[in-house]
Amino acid sequence: MPASPRLADYAVHVEQSRGRRYPEAPHPYRDDFQRDRDRIIHSRAFRRLENKTQVFTNRISDHFRTRLTHTIEVAQISRTIAAALQLNEGLVETLALVHDIGHPPFGHSGERALDLAMRKHGARFDHNLHALRIVERFEQRYASHPGLNLTFEVREGIIKHSHDYSPEEYPELAEYFLAQRPPLEAQLIDLTDEIAYNTADLDDGREARLLRLDEIRREISLFERCFRQVEAEFSNVSDKLKFNEALKRMLDRMVTDLIENTRHRLRESGVKTLEDVRHWSVRLAAFSPGVDAERAQAKRFLSEHLYHSESLRPQKADGEKIIHELFTYWIEHPAALPAGYQAQMATEGPARVVCDYIAGMTDNYILGLYRKLTGRAVGKQS
Ligand code: MG
Repeated sequence: MPASPRLADYAVHVEQSRGRRYPEAPHPYRDDFQRDRDRIIHSRAFRRLENKTQVFTNRISDHFRTRLTHTIEVAQISRTIAAALQLNEGLVETLALVHDIGHPPFGHSGERALDLAMRKHGARFDHNLHALRIVERFEQRYASHPGLNLTFEVREGIIKHSHDYSPEEYPELAEYFLAQRPPLEAQLIDLTDEIAYNTADLDDGREARLLRLDEIRREISLFERCFRQVEAEFSNVSDKLKFNEALKRMLDRMVTDLIENTRHRLRESGVKTLEDVRHWSVRLAAFSPGVDAERAQAKRFLSEHLYHSESLRPQKADGEKIIHELFTYWIEHPAALPAGYQAQMATEGPARVVCDYIAGMTDNYILGLYRKLTGRAVGKQS
């Protein structure tokens, strides 16, 4: 593979990758990170994202994001930022495409319910660690090895993109240098994820008529500034168009700030190489303090007015109930699990096996199983 001359020294250079668990011959046309990206796209877990909740379970509009379209938006934003910062676009795109692959059905309420069920068995559910299990073990596509055999840097990014795991608590993750910062390519993902959902959820929330333009304008100062600009430039267009244009500018403002502020922090820190990035005391990819405060304001608004709204409570309660009941059912009736899962019981223990089984399901699939096993339907599925 040719070297990558446009990459900064602080970027991850594919030719210096720590490689795969099972060595493979190089590909003539794609470097290792591009191959990892393609392996993710061709995985079953990736296709299932189409039917996993982002925010809305009841599909009252075809325009709402699913976890798949959200993922594609995160990938798009991440590539722009990676290119501007001379980071490895192939690695960033791969990490963006894989970042939500470990999510169970029913979005965050599903995650909470599964974690609650696992705690009763002295364990936890964590979607990043689950994503690692998916790519290392559950995807069966290659005759020569289990899982997708992804490069070290992609596996490291999967677990380290959103938070730090302590080496004492997770000795099984020791190979991923838990005491060090992840490369900038991984650091970006959590921030681009936020840019994507803080804007998309305003859009979908308004489409669902759960959020009103006047309250968004009143409570999110970054949106309000963008909206005023748009009003001054386009007085004769509909509110809907002004909203869309303002939202686009809000997204652009956050992306630009993330690029410029990260560049500024790199300059100030004197960080030159990937090793410097890894050993720096904090993550260097960051919004400026002003935009970060506005980001937090938007996130708080969405949390209060959308994620924890009365209107979404029934769908969340249904999701939690289904997961709780089915988890309990399979713990009590392990013989009802598919043969492949039963075979894992001896090594993994019943709770982890049931957890893995449920976490892999799409919303539709688990709803269908619930109906079949209990004879009861839940919620309005349109
Ligand atoms: Mg996400």
